Amino acid sequence: MIEFRRVSKLYANGTVGLQEVDVTIHSGEFVVIVGLSGAGKSTLLRSINRLHEITSGDIIVDGKSITHARGEELRHMRRSIGMIFQSFNLVKRSSVIRNVLSGRVGYHSTIRTLLGLFPKEDVQLALNALARVNIQEKAYIRADQLSGGQQQRVSIARALAQEAKIILADEPVASLDPLTTRQVMDDLRRINQELGITMVVNLHDIDLARQYATRIIGLRAGEIVFDGPVGEATEER
Ligand code: ADP
Ligand code: ADP
Repeated sequence: MIEFRRVSKLYANGTVGLQEVDVTIHSGEFVVIVGLSGAGKSTLLRSINRLHEITSGDIIVDGKSITHARGEELRHMRRSIGMIFQSFNLVKRSSVIRNVLSGRVGYHSTIRTLLGLFPKEDVQLALNALARVNIQEKAYIRADQLSGGQQQRVSIARALAQEAKIILADEPVASLDPLTTRQVMDDLRRINQELGITMVVNLHDIDLARQYATRIIGLRAGEIVFDGPVGEATEER
């Protein structure tokens, strides 16, 4: 469960990112955040794992305040939250499996993982994660040899290898063609349904949101202006 309690974000230059946002996202939901560019979607998503620090309020993840978490507690909470970006954020010159294994780094002492030494179980976990998004056969290929859709599946596999309970996806299909978009969104839906991983996905395409979300949250100028099941969002727009 993710709970926003009167969360505001004011950027250093005075821009409003979020304004007194109160919202609760339950485990297993597939929430899509919609809104125009600049509405605050990315700010909302990135404040959940503290990629952005909020200015006031509190964010509770599975009963604990991530806003106030420090040190090992914060690292532990962050491990449970996977992140997927529009631009994939893979290490291009590394193999696919190394990219997926990077989801395991937080689980081990740093020196071993800095040297790229992962236990056998981690390699198996990474291969299983790749199998779940149907690109196991690409494991030993360099990440930058893959198509955009394949690279995005690698980043999904990285979140799975991390054993994330929540996946945050910031415009995950914005740079993909329509067919690939569908495949990646289908993967996210399957993972949500099969593994019960909570999905919070930013999209600017309302039609896509309607097809995949169980709940749509609309943002405008940092405020929630719509929050409801998919049927109602259809009437709203
Ligand atoms: P924070 O308050 O979250 O630390 P900062 O204001 O320090 O954010 O900016 C973080 C980064 O975002 C900087 O590199 C900055 O150049 C960049 N940035 C500044 N303005 C914008 C904007 N309007 N949209 C997106 N990124 C921006
Ligand atoms: P969206 O994801 O919906 O496009 P954002 O969350 O990126 O919206 O941005 C919300 C508002 O905050 C916008 O006005 C944007 O320009 C501003 N903003 C985003 N990041 C920064 C930053 N680092 N510094 C200053 N302003 C920012």
